[in-house]
Amino acid sequence: MCGIVGYVGKEEAAPFLLDGLSKLEYRGYDSAGIATIDGTKLVVEKCVGRLAALKEKIDGHVPKGTIGIGHTRWATHGRPADNNAHPHTDGAGRFAVVHNGIIENYLPLKEGLLKKGHEFKSETDSEVVVHLLADVYDGDFEAAVHRVLTMIEGSYSLVFLSKDHPDRLICAKKDNPLVIGLGNGENFIASDIPAIISRTRRTYILNDGEIAVVHRDGVDVCNFAGERIDKKVFEVNWNAEAAEKGGYEHFMLKEIHEQPKAVRDTMSQRIAKDGKSVVFNELKWDKDFLDSIDKISIVACGTAYHAGLVGKTYIEKLVRIPVEIDVASEFRYKDPIIDDKTLTVVVSQSGETSDTLAALKEAKRRGAKTVAITNVVGSSIAREADRVIYTWAGPEIAVASTKAYTTQLVAFFMLALYMAEIEGTQPSERIAELIAALQKLPDDVSRTFEDMEPIKTFATKYGFNEDAFFIGRSLDYNVAMEGSLKLKEISYIHAEAYAAGELKHGTLALIVKGVPVIALATQKSVYEKTLGNIKEVKARDAVVIGIAAADDTELAKYVDHVIKVPATDELLIPILAVIPLQLLAYYAAVTRGCDVDKPRNLAKSVTVE
Ligand code: GLU
Repeated sequence: MCGIVGYVGKEEAAPFLLDGLSKLEYRGYDSAGIATIDGTKLVVEKCVGRLAALKEKIDGHVPKGTIGIGHTRWATHGRPADNNAHPHTDGAGRFAVVHNGIIENYLPLKEGLLKKGHEFKSETDSEVVVHLLADVYDGDFEAAVHRVLTMIEGSYSLVFLSKDHPDRLICAKKDNPLVIGLGNGENFIASDIPAIISRTRRTYILNDGEIAVVHRDGVDVCNFAGERIDKKVFEVNWNAEAAEKGGYEHFMLKEIHEQPKAVRDTMSQRIAKDGKSVVFNELKWDKDFLDSIDKISIVACGTAYHAGLVGKTYIEKLVRIPVEIDVASEFRYKDPIIDDKTLTVVVSQSGETSDTLAALKEAKRRGAKTVAITNVVGSSIAREADRVIYTWAGPEIAVASTKAYTTQLVAFFMLALYMAEIEGTQPSERIAELIAALQKLPDDVSRTFEDMEPIKTFATKYGFNEDAFFIGRSLDYNVAMEGSLKLKEISYIHAEAYAAGELKHGTLALIVKGVPVIALATQKSVYEKTLGNIKEVKARDAVVIGIAAADDTELAKYVDHVIKVPATDELLIPILAVIPLQLLAYYAAVTRGCDVDKPRNLAKSVTVE
């Protein structure tokens, strides 16, 4: 999920590798490493921390050689540590591999390799790849890589280096980016364009299922079946800043569009092969454990708190355990009623949110069992909690959280399913139905983007209004709260979210001609009631944009514009319905000329009280 570079050419590889990795530093990472071939030796240098730490480590003995690979790691499997940093090597030191992504079936593969005598040096999923390569290698490097790719499942961009073949790098891509930079007597590999644009603007952008064999004088690309592919050269005309954002105008827009992958990665490895149950190897709870809990307490801040609200509904509906939820800054000082029969779930994208960390410590002090949902492996909250569920959203750079929120919802949904199965609170058919809906979710998220033009038009038109209202019932209300926060955070428009049924208890007084109201009506169980509330605001001449499921035929009759998201189970639809709201906030902020990625007065990781 972080950075990859490769070089084969006429110059020393290491300077390019270090420089290329530095161009990817903006994404954040926890460790770095490089490998080169110096004569007949494979040399690997890696360590936890910033690139500066690696540079210091190799000061005076920079690895030599005109071929090499490099990596900055955003840990998913195994904490940030020297031994978990990439590149990884096989036992004989013949091959080195760098990997971005997640190898989903690494555990059974690792077991098989251990039985054959392979010794592992790291806790990562990635290391299996290099041992597999060594295991199947019979002198033909390309054939061995092809073989390995038939054995691994998951998402990856991979670059392979072989001591026996110091003239080539082999790379492969599935669901993670990889580009090849075409030079003169030298070629480059990178996970992202910024790493190479100071050296070349002529590139091949690899597609999923493609493998490239990269020599200093040429690049051969084929698919996983071995059929040759004629790649078209893509001339990069972005400047360095645009390249960092992958061609999107802002990180936030890029991250909004990364949600299909973020959602897929977060689900990966957590659904049993038969598709019938959720697996949480990181929890390993049983009925005795859950029976010892009489309530759940969710604690979080900001967007993570909004994810917690949805999580509360998931757990209460599916597991029938009472759930309390608090913002962390309130929880700490309210003398919470927490004891050893409480399970406290804390949620934080960065894992460093100071209020949430303090709340977690307070819950532990009172004897609660704890689990954290976070996006950063080895973060303070991850270390402090008894158990951790990582969201695998990848680095989030924009201050306004988008893909972290949707992956937190996925984590909560899976957690609720997992607990429901153990407690037997849902019939197995209902569990199977929900898992089937979950497996369809990444595609549903992709399809949500197909019809978002009206949101842009609406945002551009109403972006200069000073107020906006978001209404909905049940889960729609929770999504409305997140939509309203997003709009406030980045466009500075005053926005309020209301439970639609509460309007008449006060807010309706503010609904006057022309006020924009975003009305969510995706929840079938309260649909008629929501429709009634929408009619109330329409009767006051508000301009209403409705968010509904694709199979909705009613809403259009009562609102000014309808945005449809794919139809799915009403528990999962928040993950889709929030996307138009993220885009609305984004385009409103752009219309107002706001600094989208760095909104005023806000920081990405709130490490102060
Ligand atoms: N899953 C791998 C690891 O944890 C790769 C992480 C990355 O993409 O940086 O080492």
